[in-house]
Amino acid sequence: MTQEFHKKAIEHPIFKLIGETSQEIGMDAYVIGGFVRDYILQRGTPKDIDIVAVGSGIELAKKVAEKLKGKPQVSVFKNFGTAMIKYHELELEFVGARRESYDRNSRKPHVEDGTLEDDQNRRDFTINAMALSLGSDNFGQMVDPFNGLEDLRKKTIRTPLEPGITYSDDPLRMMRAIRFATQLNFEIELKSLQAITDNRERIKIISKERIVDELHKILLSEKPSIGFALMHQTGLLPIILPELTALQGIEEIEGQRHKDNFWHTLEVVDNIALTTDNLWLRWAALLHDIGKAPTKRFHKKIGWTFHGHEFVGSKMVYKLFKRLRMPLNDKMKFVQKMVLMSSRPIILSEDHVTDSAVRRLVFDAGEFVDDLMTLCEADITTKNPRKQKRYRSNFQIVRQKIVEVEERDHVRNFQPPVSGEEIMKVFNLKPSKEIGIIKDAIKEAILEGEIPNEYKAAYAFMLEKGKQLNLTPIVDEKE
Ligand code: ATP
Repeated sequence: MTQEFHKKAIEHPIFKLIGETSQEIGMDAYVIGGFVRDYILQRGTPKDIDIVAVGSGIELAKKVAEKLKGKPQVSVFKNFGTAMIKYHELELEFVGARRESYDRNSRKPHVEDGTLEDDQNRRDFTINAMALSLGSDNFGQMVDPFNGLEDLRKKTIRTPLEPGITYSDDPLRMMRAIRFATQLNFEIELKSLQAITDNRERIKIISKERIVDELHKILLSEKPSIGFALMHQTGLLPIILPELTALQGIEEIEGQRHKDNFWHTLEVVDNIALTTDNLWLRWAALLHDIGKAPTKRFHKKIGWTFHGHEFVGSKMVYKLFKRLRMPLNDKMKFVQKMVLMSSRPIILSEDHVTDSAVRRLVFDAGEFVDDLMTLCEADITTKNPRKQKRYRSNFQIVRQKIVEVEERDHVRNFQPPVSGEEIMKVFNLKPSKEIGIIKDAIKEAILEGEIPNEYKAAYAFMLEKGKQLNLTPIVDEKE
């Protein structure tokens, strides 16, 4: 790769301006890290740009902002010695070159001013330590002391210094290594994998929020299974997501085996990643079977069962989110709902698909019925091509029926066609259990297909039901 190619990375006029400004105040400046890596990998044009100044990054940021059109605001983070400028679609982060040393109990380093080399030494991976000079005499020159370029070519994640020290100093790097390996489809070099395995317990000093950020990024990758398999291999998974580890393994009793639900889950996650970018639906795929470990039983007559795993799993979702300090909001409820309902379309598709079963499915899943179907389709991991074909075509039938039923009956966002108030008025009732009974009976009749989801039919049904309960309407027939 030539300097011309590298120069192209920084052809945006902002880089020249930063270079000139840094020289005016007698500093060297470089663009470093993810921007350089992603440019070389041609992963689109990165918008986050890290600038390292050999001197004060904050001072350089302020001087640059003064020269930019519109004089954008500089956000200074004094504690971190960094400054940030948002300029059009770009986010420029300035930092002074630094040397770092660590305590055992914290991932917060002691920081001193340093050289570019010191700064590159503190970076997590060789592919994240490459710098391009912004100086006018060597504009676009690559400074790559650890041969990150070669690692990009070989698709390797490697640490600049001894991996044992790198991961122990800041254990978040273990998750970052696995995340980059997943996003970029790179291999983590053997020494590093071993060091992660050795240091796995140190992940406990990292905040849950940071870990979850990395989990999100792994889940949003093209093939998330890479990351979860690496977490499994290095022993991070039982610390972070023990519910998944518990799914691993195949038991055999009296010649009957069940499938390995951990590896099955990873396949489901990869499948769903092909069809949706919805992070929470991907979480649902990851967690859809977690109730299987605690509900697993062996029965002499029927073999392995996981009765009620969907319900147990949905309860586990809450505990897992809470433990990982993820917000317990409607996203969590969505994941719970998906886990709870994850077998419903499957049962449907194995059987004769009746309208009323579809109506109930749409009623219970509400606005998320399409997401549920996407999850169930991803759940097909059988290697038997005949079964694969049959399941797929059955789900197609279910999808088709959902559309038909919805067009006719509108139960997706079901509103009772006759309100409780109207029932009270018609039968001259005070609030009482009869109202609930009649409302439920109307809903059931609609879902069963006995009456259409319409006011007139529901009203007539209400009168009928009232009669059975020995109620007399004070208002008679409705016009
Ligand atoms: P992405 O934007 O995909 O997360 P990135 O490499 O830009 O990738 P950032 O978290 O923005 O990631 O970090 C910017 C740079 O800072 C990295 O490229 C790396 O050089 C350095 N860095 C970030 N986190 C660490 C860390 N925990 N230890 C050492 N260096 C780090």
